[in-house]
Amino acid sequence: MSKFKTLDDLGDVTGKVALVRVDLNLPMKDGSATDVTRVEAIKPTVLELAERGAKVLMLAHFGRPGGKRSSVLSTSMVVGDVEGVLGKELMFIPEVAGPVVEQSIGILRNGDIGLLDNTRFWPGEEANDADFAKAIAAHGDFFVNDAFSAAHRAHATTEGITHHLPAYAGRSMEAELKALDAALGNPQAPVAAVVGGAKVSSKLAVLENLVGRVQHLIIGGGMANTFLAARGVNVGKSLCEHDLTDTASRILDTADHAGCTVHLPYDVVVSKEFAANPPSLRTCNVHEVAEDEMILDIGASAAVALADVLKTCRTLVWNGPLGAFETEPFDAATVALARTAAALTQEGSLISVAGGGDTVAALAQAGVTGDVTYISTAGGAFLEWMEGKELPGVAALTA
Ligand code: ADP
Ligand code: MG
Repeated sequence: MSKFKTLDDLGDVTGKVALVRVDLNLPMKDGSATDVTRVEAIKPTVLELAERGAKVLMLAHFGRPGGKRSSVLSTSMVVGDVEGVLGKELMFIPEVAGPVVEQSIGILRNGDIGLLDNTRFWPGEEANDADFAKAIAAHGDFFVNDAFSAAHRAHATTEGITHHLPAYAGRSMEAELKALDAALGNPQAPVAAVVGGAKVSSKLAVLENLVGRVQHLIIGGGMANTFLAARGVNVGKSLCEHDLTDTASRILDTADHAGCTVHLPYDVVVSKEFAANPPSLRTCNVHEVAEDEMILDIGASAAVALADVLKTCRTLVWNGPLGAFETEPFDAATVALARTAAALTQEGSLISVAGGGDTVAALAQAGVTGDVTYISTAGGAFLEWMEGKELPGVAALTA
């Protein structure tokens, strides 16, 4: 990873205007946030800059207004929730550039925090319009990006603005970049990747990138069925992308040539219906799945074998649950492997980094959220990183 500047590289910021890109795209219900994890994530950066005497102006998008103002998608909707987490009052500024912003900066005292309106109200944001970026940048002395989750987009407030102001990674961005670098950039070998979830099609690029970079590729979830089918296994009525079996075979061949061992389950949990604790539930060898059965989790023996693989590894990167974990008991393998990963991490033998919406939920269900090295909540940006893509918002900080 090329080097990026952090808040440690900032000198005296007293009285300076910090433009800070944050992720305040909070899930809302009845006018308030149902989850404030994203605010918790930016809190250290925002409070540090305020405590160091800067005037902090937060830039954020909120939903998809499509380049037009919309009262329900104003960032003013989240002011109360953000104030609650930061423990400080915010000044809401209903613009992102121009005289209103300039006047507001005049009113802010050192250490005060302002929130600008939804950057996506202006078409220049998603178009990464140079003039738009320049107009925003004109208000600040420096730029801080603390929104890794928006870094896969080359937008005016994630990329364009860095052409006009010195740019720094915020604390949450810094932690994310360090964790991802330890997981995939410069990892300690052997490295294991767990890739699970519903479909091969949504994670093809991830699989293609990983086979050349990790020593062990553990494939679970619905996508394992497509790989099993590629190897001639009859998967009954399991979720399976039969049109992708050639692609799966090609990935298996690539892995073979790259010295990457692919681990597919050899026993599986099946049932005739998809329901909690169904009467037809059984565990069987992958070659014994009946025509009217579907695979909903990997089996206990396979899970033990995977735990043994992790014991020989130094690094683990995980995206995607091993089974249909939302429904009992198809979370068993995911929970078991998550607990093994957590225990090895706590013993100091494994660096474990996980991400993905359902993966984060599954690890929480296993009760290991605090026991793995790092959990990324960045969704799309995390997956693009797993695909080996350069993220424009990150590249702009490391240029
Ligand atoms: P993430 O959000 O972590 O990237 P995905 O969205 O790719 O993960 O996949 C999660 C989904 O995959 C879950 O809803 C889970 O129920 C489903 N899934 C996992 N294994 C199976 C399976 N064997 N059959 C059907 N669905 C599965
Ligand atoms: Mg998902």
